[in-house]
Amino acid sequence: MPTDDTYTFDSTVYYDEDADPDHIVHKTVAVLGYGSQGHAHAQNLSESGVDVVVGLREGSSSRAAAENDGLRVATPADAAAEADIVSVLVPDTVQPDVYEAAIEPNLESGDTLQFAHGFNIHYNQIQPPEDVDVTMVAPKSPGHLVRRNYENDEGTPGLLAVYQDATGEAHDEGLAYAAAIGCTRAGVVETSFREETETDLFGEQAVLCGGVTSLVKQAYETLVDAGYSPEMAYFECLNELKLIVDLMYEGGLGKMWDSVSDTAEYGGLTKGDVVVDEHARENMEAILEQVQDGTFAHEWIAENQAGRPSYTQLRTAEKNREIEAVGEELRELFAWQEADEDEEESAEVTA
Ligand code: NAD
Ligand code: MG
Repeated sequence: MPTDDTYTFDSTVYYDEDADPDHIVHKTVAVLGYGSQGHAHAQNLSESGVDVVVGLREGSSSRAAAENDGLRVATPADAAAEADIVSVLVPDTVQPDVYEAAIEPNLESGDTLQFAHGFNIHYNQIQPPEDVDVTMVAPKSPGHLVRRNYENDEGTPGLLAVYQDATGEAHDEGLAYAAAIGCTRAGVVETSFREETETDLFGEQAVLCGGVTSLVKQAYETLVDAGYSPEMAYFECLNELKLIVDLMYEGGLGKMWDSVSDTAEYGGLTKGDVVVDEHARENMEAILEQVQDGTFAHEWIAENQAGRPSYTQLRTAEKNREIEAVGEELRELFAWQEADEDEEESAEVTA
C-alpha cells in the first residue's frame, strides 16, 4: 500500500516497561531441548533470575553443553513435572511425541505450555488440556543471536501470542518470559498462533526459502543454457544477492534502489514484474490457501510419518546441482575473507 504518511503500527508492541518480572521470577521453567533456541532461552532466563531446568534425554550430546553452561539438567519428563512453565524447544517434528511421552503426563492444572512456533498447536498435533495456559514467545532470530544480543545488553525482537488462558495470567506471564530472554528490550509484537504459523510457513515457501532459491536457480540456468560461463552466472545470480539483501535489511527497498546504479534501478523497476508476474501471484495465493486449510501441514506430517521419502530425494537432488559445485569452487576464492566470520559463528552456536 503506497503512502506518504508516516505509518503507525497496526499491532500492539510491548517494551521492557510493559513487562512485570514478578510473573516469572518465582517460577521454574523447563526448557526442553538445547538447540538453537533452547540454549539461548535457558541461559537468558537463568541470568534473568528464573529457576531453569533443561530437559534432555539420557545420552543426549547436549547434556554436557547445558551442564558446562552452569544449568541444571533432567530428563524431559522430570523437568516437565517440576516446572510451572514447560518451554517446548525440541524440533517441531518431534514435539508431538515428546508431548505425549514426557509433557502431558506431567502437566498440572495452572501450568503453562510455552512454544516458539505455533505449528503443532495450530494444526492440532498437540491438544493441551483446558486447565493449562498455552503461550508463544517467538524471537525473530536464530538462537545464537538471541543469546549474543542478551549478553551485549541488546534485545531481539519477538512475537507474543496466547492460545489458551486458563489462569487469567497467560498474557502477563508470556510478556515476563519475553522480557527475561531479552525480547522486550527490542520490542515484542502481539500476534496469534494462527497468524504466526500461517505467515511463517507462507514466508518461507513463497520468498525466503522457496521463492528466492527458485529465482536463483532459474536465472543461473537461463544464463548457462545461453552459453555464458557458470562462474559469471553464479556471481550475478547468487553471490551478489547478499549485497542487495543487506541493503534491503538495513534500509528497506528504498536504500537498495538508492544504492544501485540508475541503470540497475530502471531495469529492476521495469523487469521485476515481468519475471514475477501475475501467474506467480496466483501461485502464491494457491500456496497460502494450502497453508490456511492445512493441506501443507498434513502433507508434511504424512511425509514425516512415512520416513521422509520425497524430502530425502529432493534434498539429494538439490545438493547435486551444478550451481552448488560451481559455488563450492568459487567460494574458495573468498576463503581468506570469510575465515574470521566462520570462527566467530562456530564459537557461538551450541548444538
Ligand atoms: P534445534 O533443532 O536447533 O534443537 C532442538 C534440540 O532438541 C536438539 O538440540 C536436541 O537437544 C533436542 N532434541 C532433538 N530431538 C529430541 C527428542 N526426540 N527428544 C528430546 N529432545 C530432542 O531446534 P530449534 O531450531 O531451536 O527449534 C526449536 C523451536 O524453536 C521450534 O519450535 C522452532 O520452530 C522454533 N524457532 C526456531 C528458530 C530458529 O532460528 N532456529 C526461530 C524461532 C523459532
Ligand atoms: Mg508441573
